[in-house]
Amino acid sequence: MPTYSIAVIPGDGIGPDVIAEGLKVLQRAGDRSEVAFDLEHFPWGVGYWLQHDVPMPPDALQILAGFDSIYLGAVGLPDKAPETVGVGGVVLAIRAGFEQFANVRPVQPMPGCPWYIAHRTPEEIDFIVIREATEGFYCNLGGRYRSGDAEFAEVSTVRPAFAESAEIALQTGVFSELGCRRVITYAFDLAQKRDGKKHVTSTTKSNALPHAMGLWDEIFEQVAAEYPDIAHDWSHVDALAMRFITNPERFDVVVAPNLFGDILTDLSAVLVGGLGFAPGGNLSQTGPSMFEPPHGSAPDIMGKGIANPIAAILTAAFMMESLGEQEMAGCIREAVAKVVSEGRALTPDAGGDATTTQVGDAIADAIG
Ligand code: ATP
Repeated sequence: MPTYSIAVIPGDGIGPDVIAEGLKVLQRAGDRSEVAFDLEHFPWGVGYWLQHDVPMPPDALQILAGFDSIYLGAVGLPDKAPETVGVGGVVLAIRAGFEQFANVRPVQPMPGCPWYIAHRTPEEIDFIVIREATEGFYCNLGGRYRSGDAEFAEVSTVRPAFAESAEIALQTGVFSELGCRRVITYAFDLAQKRDGKKHVTSTTKSNALPHAMGLWDEIFEQVAAEYPDIAHDWSHVDALAMRFITNPERFDVVVAPNLFGDILTDLSAVLVGGLGFAPGGNLSQTGPSMFEPPHGSAPDIMGKGIANPIAAILTAAFMMESLGEQEMAGCIREAVAKVVSEGRALTPDAGGDATTTQVGDAIADAIG
């Protein structure tokens, strides 16, 4: 029987609630598919920081390196710790530590989920957004400068009005040839494996950001030329955001730089019924990948037992698919689709009155 070692980081807020349901469903599907798990829980996040002054121990990455996958709930509690503690100290540190360069968000809505696109049906939409997750404008390069600083003087030559300000701020985006190429290649490889339209769409804004995004566009064309059997096109991000709503059925695989991907993936979460239904994963080619629902710790509903666990459950299915257990992943998705389409157990964000546990139980029961 295949056995997968999974590092479980439930995190803060609603993280532990939704991860408990994800594991419940995973165990049930594993029993059915004869797949076993070696689970180890790590209590990292803001709770850990409050006790130990660090959000995770210094050797956390060495510990995680030994696992097949990481399954994370959500970290961060804005009332108790700065954002740099939870998201920065755990999620971003793990993503960077294992070069998890592809943040992947499947957009596959199921009938019965909250629906906002009146001119389309859930069955018509099936695509994946891949967000580059290690570079771009999220490298934390830049600074704030005042009159008298060398940087201030240099930037003031660009536009005279800048010199009249008391302060200016620079945020630098870094696009590396390797970083662009590996995520774009990943997108084409994925399109080749999918039963979809075999189409990759890239998005940038190279008319306004010609240096960085010009490099991305050039590499996109180079990689596309290596995949003659995959159709490709390109769109400025503003036009693409519009098409996510007007023509979501036209997409198969969408690849985007970090900042634009961050925004587009929240927009795509709306297409599957909201954050409570959107799965996600951060994929690495050199270390363990990390699977986490894109929603945060949702402090406004923590402790109420009403968080929607479906995003975490579909994230577990995505994890199993990435580990090569397609059948098991399909079985979890079918069980979720059954419960959602029958409206059997839905949390308040989806118009129901079920608790987090009741939704998890209903999905586990639907697996059989
Ligand atoms: P972050 O910056 O960490 O993403 P955030 O506060 O911007 O945090 P979320 O924590 O995801 O975003 O919450 C956004 C809204 O969505 C909140 O009103 C929250 O209650 C709701 N929400 C998020 N996840 C869920 C869920 N699983 N079930 C129900 N509602 C959710």
